[in-house]
Amino acid sequence: MSIYNLTIEELTDYFLKNNEKKFFAKELFSWLYEKDKRITDFDMATNLKKSTRERLKAEFKISTLDIVTVEKAKDVRKYLFKLNDGEHIEAVLMHHDYGNSLCISSQVGCNMGCKFCESGRRKKVRNLTSGEMVEQILKVESEGKVRISHVVIMGIGEPFDNYDNICKFIKIINHQNGLNIGSRHITVSTCGLVPKILDFANFPYQVNLAISLHAPTDELRKQLMPIAKVYPLKELMESIKIYLEKTNRRVTFEYILLKDINDKEEDANNLSKLLKGINAYVNLIPYNETEALQFARSNALTIAKFYDILKKNNITVTIRREFGGTISAACGQLRSKKEDI
Ligand code: SF4
Repeated sequence: MSIYNLTIEELTDYFLKNNEKKFFAKELFSWLYEKDKRITDFDMATNLKKSTRERLKAEFKISTLDIVTVEKAKDVRKYLFKLNDGEHIEAVLMHHDYGNSLCISSQVGCNMGCKFCESGRRKKVRNLTSGEMVEQILKVESEGKVRISHVVIMGIGEPFDNYDNICKFIKIINHQNGLNIGSRHITVSTCGLVPKILDFANFPYQVNLAISLHAPTDELRKQLMPIAKVYPLKELMESIKIYLEKTNRRVTFEYILLKDINDKEEDANNLSKLLKGINAYVNLIPYNETEALQFARSNALTIAKFYDILKKNNITVTIRREFGGTISAACGQLRSKKEDI
């Protein structure tokens, strides 16, 4: 098992169970996560006893993924990782003026089958462990010589289909002795698994929730996202209202604009109606075309009109800044190329 799977509380229990000192957990966390330490071998944790290091070596792995390729463009780097079992996942690093943000994967493949998504073309192989998610950050920080200030769980996979590992991952990267990434700088994106949205309303960390909406009516949403057949918009919006009441936070709605499919004036008006009175922030995303999928990007004028309609209806909205169209930046493209799917 990866040592990065453990929260500091679990590591404390581990040491206590092995009749070791409780404070070893804090020591080891600092060896694993502190910027100038980041050990790659337990023997480098020199203030732990030799017998302790030997036991750690026998029971835990310290590296569970490797960088295979890095594609670079202005302000963006896209990473392809190989996991210990030979599977591939991706992460994307983006430099913003407010800091460096990393979009990580949460599963190998995805079962949600969104029609416009490259990752959804291949069924889920397995969930990522929390350690494999933590390591995406560590490996990118080391390769890019940067500090990741923001984390977005929006790469390959549906995070809420791997709920327990996601929650643990957040605890680990948020901990002051871990990566110390502020909870308000962490965003979890879901295609709309209603029961998990309700669970997440009770998760005691102030992380951001983003909903991949992409259509303002059930009819259209069902064509694009099979999950809409399980959880129609009425149920989804009710769960979001409960989430908002409990957390007192704002929810982001992701909306990929697909030419002649969900980008009409009528769609913008329907979206405005759907979000009326909700503490919402809409992120309009120009589509990244891929050879394997038939969708096209809306033209700039259509995007501008869509944006204006939302604005006029007092919806807080932005058009997502674009990164790296030339480097297979849409989620799942790099992995598809590698695995030729
Ligand atoms: S958009 Fe997200 S939830 Fe939908 S198939 Fe792709 S990875 Fe899965």
